[in-house]
Amino acid sequence: MKDRRIARFTAVVLALMLLLGATNTAAAGHFALKGRDYGPCDKLLGDTYIILVFVSTPNHPWTKTMKDRVNEVSWSSIAIMESEAKRYSAKLNLQFGGLDYSVPYEYSSDKRWYQYILDNYHSSEDIAGVIDYYRGSLNQDSVAMIFLFNSWDRSYTVCTNRDYPNFSDEYCVIFCDTNMHDNYLTHEVLHLYGAIDFYDYNNEGVQRVAEKYFRNSDMLYVSHEVDELTAYLVGWTDTLSYKASQFLKETDGLR
Ligand SMILES: [Zn+2]
Repeated sequence: MKDRRIARFTAVVLALMLLLGATNTAAAGHFALKGRDYGPCDKLLGDTYIILVFVSTPNHPWTKTMKDRVNEVSWSSIAIMESEAKRYSAKLNLQFGGLDYSVPYEYSSDKRWYQYILDNYHSSEDIAGVIDYYRGSLNQDSVAMIFLFNSWDRSYTVCTNRDYPNFSDEYCVIFCDTNMHDNYLTHEVLHLYGAIDFYDYNNEGVQRVAEKYFRNSDMLYVSHEVDELTAYLVGWTDTLSYKASQFLKETDGLR
């Protein structure tokens, strides 16, 4: 009798595990989860060193005033991210450091500036190698690279995800102007570690759902809040909150 009860209990547990496994598999295919815990910048945890590379071009060299402005922003970005990590009981000890590079080209999507930096400042064929090198020499849990241009264009993050397993580069390109806001750095750093944009360019409906659950998120508007899904994506929590699960459910397949 007792054995049968145990057997039945085991069967229920097995069925539950299968069900949960199935749910997890479904969730793993969601576009929002593809960058989580993946690539050279996998988790935004522990001792983390963000390298700010000030890239001077012939027509847009960095000036001291502008560099000071970026440094100011980086200090407030540290304060924001460390206190937000604490809300999720995640340990984050963030530091920013600067490098000054000069390239003989203007910024362009042809990436000649990028290849020039890899060839002339690092003997590595990609950023993953550079990150590896600094993680060891600076004794950090994680290292990330941000390239800053003293000109104006749309900032972006190049990020690895599970759809492209052979692609190993991860870095941000940030264009600075005098209005550079506190959240620019925070937003792009979160992207590097797997966060997704909540705003839509093509009316995909993701923004509408994000406005319902994560109205104050840094991934939606200029803000200082790291929402529950973003916290999960960057590794600050291992469980999906109710709101994060609802968001995933309602946006599945939208991108
Ligand atoms: Zn973004």
